[in-house]
Amino acid sequence: MIMVKINLEDLKNNGSIFIEKELENLSSIDEEFLKYLKVSFQVDFIPDDLLISKGTLFVELNKICDICLNTYIHKINIPFYREYFLSDLGEIATLNLTEDIREEFWLGLPIIYRCKYLCKGLCSICGVNLNNQKCDCEKDNIENNPENPFNILRNFKK
Ligand SMILES: [Zn+2]
Ligand SMILES: [Zn+2]
Repeated sequence: MIMVKINLEDLKNNGSIFIEKELENLSSIDEEFLKYLKVSFQVDFIPDDLLISKGTLFVELNKICDICLNTYIHKINIPFYREYFLSDLGEIATLNLTEDIREEFWLGLPIIYRCKYLCKGLCSICGVNLNNQKCDCEKDNIENNPENPFNILRNFKK
């Protein structure tokens, strides 16, 4: 597993550190599910005590659309923002951000996954994916429905 660590002495000397890293793996995230992850952020030292880390997680997930049930790649950018006080961190030489990145990752995931904003889903009658093809179910259903007032009229005429 790749860790994201900051050398605190370097950070204090330079004032800020920029980190951009592709992570092949992040603890407890299923590799089948996580296709790609890149972190890109800056850590600033605000004397005498504050560290601010701010940036983005670029994420690609192998997902199944909740609406049409097709597999697709879900791309999201998750903002990353954390503050640390040196006085809270104690006597450490490096700050390990891996766990915080992992936490932001989970918090940043959507509740509903859809392959596109206006996914049309599946026909509830024949099951075709309405994003790719049309079906006549809806139309047939209206024409053959005995409750349809136009059908009642049509039968009446006969
Ligand atoms: Zn879909
Ligand atoms: Zn249909």
